[in-house]
Amino acid sequence: MHRRGAPILPWVIAAGAVTAAWTVWRRTHQPYYPDVALHAGIELLSRQRRVLAIGPHPGDLETFAGGTLRLLAQNGSAVTLAVLSRGERATRRANIAEIRTRETEHGAAIIGGNLIQLSLPDGQIRTGPDLDRTLDELWQRVDPDVVITVDPKGPLPFCNNPDHLAVGAAVLSRVRKGIGCGERVYFYGTPQPNVLIDITEVIQEKTNCFRAHRSHLIGPDSVVRCWSHGISRLHSRRTPAFYTEAFYRLT
Ligand SMILES: [Zn+2]
Repeated sequence: MHRRGAPILPWVIAAGAVTAAWTVWRRTHQPYYPDVALHAGIELLSRQRRVLAIGPHPGDLETFAGGTLRLLAQNGSAVTLAVLSRGERATRRANIAEIRTRETEHGAAIIGGNLIQLSLPDGQIRTGPDLDRTLDELWQRVDPDVVITVDPKGPLPFCNNPDHLAVGAAVLSRVRKGIGCGERVYFYGTPQPNVLIDITEVIQEKTNCFRAHRSHLIGPDSVVRCWSHGISRLHSRRTPAFYTEAFYRLT
């Protein structure tokens, strides 16, 4: 029964805005050569890797790379999720950092990855010596041959947060300075993907690890599922793959 005076109109407007944005992004953020991008995705999954996936906040990696990380774990790759902050500014709940840390552990378990949970200040991650030192330590611990993190250009939905841009910029700076061991770097949340991973066979696992971050999601399970599936359809418009995740391979 509909309660009189319930605020339906804002939800209708929000749903319309999201649908319009999704439609525009789906038209404008496709790889130039989708078949080549899909082939690059198959090549990434074709052998076991030492993967370091770096997310500024809880849930970032699951949202944009959860299916890819699950597929890498399935092929025997050593997958490490480094989550730099505990997302303590997400809400005013007193114990939100503990809740989000538990959710992050759950998400990493669904992916089948190792978790490194750090405590950089949510909302205040910026480029500089502290972030560089954190990345140095992660490289030493994981010795990655594949690094996955956020594109510092970040025009996709939810990617313009300053923390996101700082982390992507810090990784890009390492590459420019030649720090590291020639590892491959893949950016998610990118405006110009050149790698597509077909995640259709693991869309349920992707949705499950996305759903693990329940404290940060609005709406019933059906809406959460719709979010996960919708994000995974953003880049598949011109490919035979139904659900994909998209990356820009930098090196
Ligand atoms: Zn984030």
